[in-house]
Amino acid sequence: MTSAGNASFKVAIVGAGASGIATAVYLQRAGMAFTVFERAADVGGTWRDNTYPGLSCDIPSHLYRYSFAPNPEWSREYSPAAEIHAYFRGVAEKLGIIDKVRLSSEVTRAEFVGEGLWRITTTQGDEGLFNAVIAATGVLHKPVLPDIGGRDSFCGVSFHSSRWNHDVVLAGKRVGIIGTGSTATQILPAIVDEVESVSLFQRTPQWIISVPNNEFSEEKKRAFRKEPQKMAELYDHLNNLFNRRFAASLVGENDEGLAEMARACRQNLEDNVHDVKLRRRLTPSYQAGCKRLIVSDKFYPAIQRPNARLVDTRIMRIEPPGIRTNDGLMHELDVIVYATGFDPFAFFRPAVIVGRNGVSLNERWKESCQAYRSVAAPGFPNLFFIGGPNSPIGNFSFLRTAEVQIGYVTELVKLLSEGAHREVEPTEEATEAFNAEVEQAIKHTVWVTGGCKSWYFDKQGKVVSWPWSYGRFEADLKQPRMEEFKAA
Ligand code: NAP
Repeated sequence: MTSAGNASFKVAIVGAGASGIATAVYLQRAGMAFTVFERAADVGGTWRDNTYPGLSCDIPSHLYRYSFAPNPEWSREYSPAAEIHAYFRGVAEKLGIIDKVRLSSEVTRAEFVGEGLWRITTTQGDEGLFNAVIAATGVLHKPVLPDIGGRDSFCGVSFHSSRWNHDVVLAGKRVGIIGTGSTATQILPAIVDEVESVSLFQRTPQWIISVPNNEFSEEKKRAFRKEPQKMAELYDHLNNLFNRRFAASLVGENDEGLAEMARACRQNLEDNVHDVKLRRRLTPSYQAGCKRLIVSDKFYPAIQRPNARLVDTRIMRIEPPGIRTNDGLMHELDVIVYATGFDPFAFFRPAVIVGRNGVSLNERWKESCQAYRSVAAPGFPNLFFIGGPNSPIGNFSFLRTAEVQIGYVTELVKLLSEGAHREVEPTEEATEAFNAEVEQAIKHTVWVTGGCKSWYFDKQGKVVSWPWSYGRFEADLKQPRMEEFKAA
């Protein structure tokens, strides 16, 4: 098989989540043959895995959609998870992607074998050779359980938020939630009315911005259906708000925006938490925007319900009856929910990726994940990432980010399929220069200056995100700069 000549040119897409489906659509439109390998028995990635009560997207629905599939049917300004999952599956079905997805086929190994080719192995066995591999494996898919002693000794039921156990009836139960991130703050309001009691174990308070989640009326949806231009206008408005103004405020390019956000969060706390002591316990000591901003008009009312309790004394250990805190108190529980987040540096792992000269990417990225402009790595020809290291993370639409990267990667893959090159990979120099520039620029972002720790930091204490404006991200990834690539 050669990479020249379309007939035999094949691409492996790893993952059939939001970015894998979009990658398939772009390649299909470019007339390329591909197979999508998916570990699970369904498509949808994070929206398939996360089914916890209260889950909705904290990015507005009309911004959280593919450019090629605007959706007039969104029920709410921030739509619930099941609807979002159905949207992705619907797009995959309607555009004929679903037939190219190999479900229950987890890629366990991708090995560069020379001549521009990769051998793919899945849990189903050897899948043969591919001319390019695109890892669309998502960012937040590996749940993290906290390193708290005695976890296994708990007599009740416990599970991670992304592996919700729907067999457990919560009615009348004493529930403990560990964590105060986007997940925990969605779960608590959704269950508080049902449970006997809910205790929220908070290590660090969060800044929360209150945004109502209104339904779209039938009339509004009709208007969107009849005049798609109205949806496009709404998209542009939201894109300007989130990806331009908000993003700029995080990277030190809109100080007034950052101050405005901080004011809105403080106001939300003052307006909605009346007990001064509780308000103090819920007040973060770091700058708003440092951690991923939480969007909720429900959390503060919920934590003040008579059966809800904020526990901000550190957890000492977990014991058979519940959680013991450092003050010696035992919080007896029937259920513990670990809303303790994900390992954002797992990327394609646990798969093993072996590049040129037998070098493994897992080994190279053990301590710190360094890529070229978030989409490729030297020594790994014809391997591309969607949502790779230094992708913009934060409160942006991952779908837009992914589409920018997919457009860019499609250009490179086209060069391969048209026979212009057999192999492309970024140079070491360009990758190092990019990462050195990131290191300088990241110092000026609120993620670093804001005085908090978050999942944006890697093991070496480095924030792995896009440290410039969203506009620069789009401009940098508009077209590959071939002088920064080695092509053979
Ligand atoms: P997260 O933001 O990483 O929050 C994890 C929480 O667990 C934090 O409050 C953390 O405390 C706490 N924690 C971790 N280990 C602990 C320990 N040993 N003891 C006590 N507390 C501990 O995780 P997440 O809430 O699942 O959210 C992760 C990301 O998923 C979000 O930032 C967002 O990008 C995405 N998400 C999106 C949506 C959406 O609507 N689109 C919804 C949910 C999640 P510290 O703060 O002290 O570390």
